[in-house]
Parts: sequence; C-alpha cells; structure tokens
Amino acid sequence: MLIIGNGRMITRDALTPFIEDGAVALDGSVIRCTGTTGQIKDLFPGAEFIDARGGVIMPAFINTHEHIYSAMARGISINGYNPKGFLDILDGMWWNIDRHLTLEQTRQSARATYLESIKNGVTTVFDHHASYGAITGSLAAIEDAAREMGVRTCLCYEVSDRDGKAKAKEAVLENVSFIKHALKDKSDMIAGMMGMHASFTISDETMELCASYKPEEVGYHIHVAEGIEDLHQCLKKYGKRILDRLMDCSILGPKTLAAHCIYINSHEMDLLKETDTMVVHNPESNMGNACGCPPTMEIMHRGVLTGLGTDGYTHDMIESYKVANILHKHHLCDAAAAWSEVPQMLFEGNAKIAGRYFDKPLGVLKTGAAADVIVMDYNPITPMDASNCNGHILFGMTGRSVITTVCSGKVLMKDRVLTCIDEEKVSADVREEAARLWKNING
Ligand SMILES: [Zn+2]
Repeated sequence: MLIIGNGRMITRDALTPFIEDGAVALDGSVIRCTGTTGQIKDLFPGAEFIDARGGVIMPAFINTHEHIYSAMARGISINGYNPKGFLDILDGMWWNIDRHLTLEQTRQSARATYLESIKNGVTTVFDHHASYGAITGSLAAIEDAAREMGVRTCLCYEVSDRDGKAKAKEAVLENVSFIKHALKDKSDMIAGMMGMHASFTISDETMELCASYKPEEVGYHIHVAEGIEDLHQCLKKYGKRILDRLMDCSILGPKTLAAHCIYINSHEMDLLKETDTMVVHNPESNMGNACGCPPTMEIMHRGVLTGLGTDGYTHDMIESYKVANILHKHHLCDAAAAWSEVPQMLFEGNAKIAGRYFDKPLGVLKTGAAADVIVMDYNPITPMDASNCNGHILFGMTGRSVITTVCSGKVLMKDRVLTCIDEEKVSADVREEAARLWKNING
C-alpha cells in the first residue's frame, strides 16, 4: 500500500470533491480509498507514505491529442522552409520530419514526449503518429518507450495518401496490427485506434480500406477541418462538408475522436452530437498555425463530448487550459466565456474520452479508479475549496508545479526527480538522434 497525503486534495469525485487535509491510498494499480490523512494513515499503519507537505494532491492529467513525431522539432531550422500558410507548414515542417524519422528516432521521440508528460503530471497520452519513412513497427517502438517510462497510452498511425497508396495501406496495417495487440493486452496501459490524417489527404478508396480492416471494438482518431483548405477541398471534390463526408464513410461514432473541428457548421455539430462522436480542442496549436478559433464553446453547449489536447505544441495541460481560457474570451469578445467549459474539457471530457478506451476510471481519485495521482507544489494565498479549485489551478499553477507523478501505482517522479529512468541519459540519447535527424532533413 502506498499513501499520498498531507495535502489539499482535489478528487474530481462529486461525493467528496475537496478534502482539506486529504490522503489517497493506492493498492497496486488501483485506488483503495480516500479520506483525511489521519483516517487513511490509521487504516494502513504500515503503508509507505509520500508527504505532499501541504501541496495539492489531484488526479494525474490526460492529454487526448499529442504528436510524438514532433518531439525533435524543437529548435529545428529547415533549409528553405518559409511557410505562407497551413499547408506549407504541414508539407515543409511536419511531413518533412515524419518522412525522415527512423524507427529508433520514433522511439526516442516517444521517450522525450513521455518524459516531458511525466514532468507535467500527464500519465495518459492519446497520440496520433506518422513516420512515413519507417511505418511498420513504429507503434511498437512507441509502446516500447511508454512501457519503459511507465505511462498509459492510446496509439494510432495517421493513414494518408500523401505518400502514395502503398504507404497508405502499410499505415492501415500498422494500425490494425497494433489495435489487435492492444485489445489482447490486459495491463490497461495501452490501447489502439485507427488513425487518419485528415479528409483532404485520404481518398474514398483509402477510407474504405480503413473501414474494411478496422476491428469493430475501436474508432478513428482524425484531424477534422483544422484548416480552411480541408473544407474547400472536400466541397470541391466531394460536393459536401467534411463531417458529412465522414458520416457517409461511417467514420463517426462514440469511439471516434475528431481533433480541432474549426470549420464546421451547425448541421455538422448536430452530426457530432447524434453520433456521440468525441471532439478534442487544441488551442495553442490552432493559434500557432493561424488556423482560426474553433466554435468549441458552441460544440460543448450542444452536449458534444469534448476534451482538451496539446497537438504536440506543449505537454503541459495547464498551459493548454490557460490559453483556451483566454482564446475563447478574446475570440467571442465575451469576458464571461469559457470559465466552466475549459475545465470541463480538461477534467471531465478527457476522463470520459479515456474511459472509452481504458477499463479503470481515470482522472478521478475514488475507490477503484486508476492509481494515477500527482502532487503540486502549491500553497494558496487565498481561500481554496471545492468551489474555486479550478481558479487556483488556472491562475496559480503550471505544469512545472508538479513535483510528484504516480501512474498505475508506480512512482514515476518524486520531488522533480524521475525515479524509473535516468533523465540525463534519456535526454542525451534524444539529443543525439535529433541532431542526426536534422542533418538528414537538411541533406
Ligand atoms: Zn494533430
């Protein structure tokens, strides 16, 4: 038994949302119970104890849209890269990187992403991968890194015709082999989806190929209407809007995760709702690529299950929270917007999305939930309780406030020190491969 106690505890459990001097008892990979520090210590006198020293104890974060392939882009300079729009950014930066990744570089990119996720208190990562230079085995390479680092992850490979039909088929088969492997796995630490890049790079023929191979237990993870170009191409080529096309291709449904959804109309929001399709919002990425602000508030008000991701832009979910909070206020010219919707995405939406792929409840501290817990170094300067804890997270904390990260009962970081891996060594390995990748890209 492991107890994490002596902290202000935010549980995200409606019955006892906040415990002033709280503790949580972890029994292997699950939470045995929560209570006050005194109660829990009395119940399990011999248990190992992690002292939160008055900080905040809360469920670990979930990130519902990541890109491991982008990890080695930090600080890169690509010869001749001078993007004039979103398509240039995709073609000149991201597709260029993904075409050059070796399997080893994919594995090192995954180590880097998971390492930074742990340091930001994220223990569940939904990734959307591409490495068109080395497709087969890439998801296994990522899984290998996830197991090494001790995090929970849902993987997929983004199918696209951008490098030709043969590679699209190889990508479909990479998804299928990983999905089948994950469905057989009993650890509750890995899951698989059928990844798709975006409507504008996938022909009807490839859509059908995905559908014919996809095991029925899983759905799709796809970028939807991220750029206006995606919508224009769909209207021009298929005479319909993107979500209508995806509906006609049987892509939508409760297991499908649609990233972005910027250029969608009211009718398409109805399609999301009717099919119970999940949406993930990535505020910093949308702003950074100058793609536009999605109608996420409206999507949520219609009852569509919506989560919050980072799209590889950062691994800090609190940063994503802060940016989403001001993006929608700014965009709608409404200072009252987004207060409740963004924490709902981050804490409730992401937990529900994860719940469609993992067995144990995530994002909550209660009996039977996954033993995924973080401790924040945070001492409030104003009163803190169940009613205002999101305000404290938004304005008082960042990902770097996380000092201890526990996933599935295993302590991955304690007092900012990674306990399962040698952080210096991992960083050095990643840097070495990144230098090699940059050299190959620039020829
Ligand atoms: Zn993305």
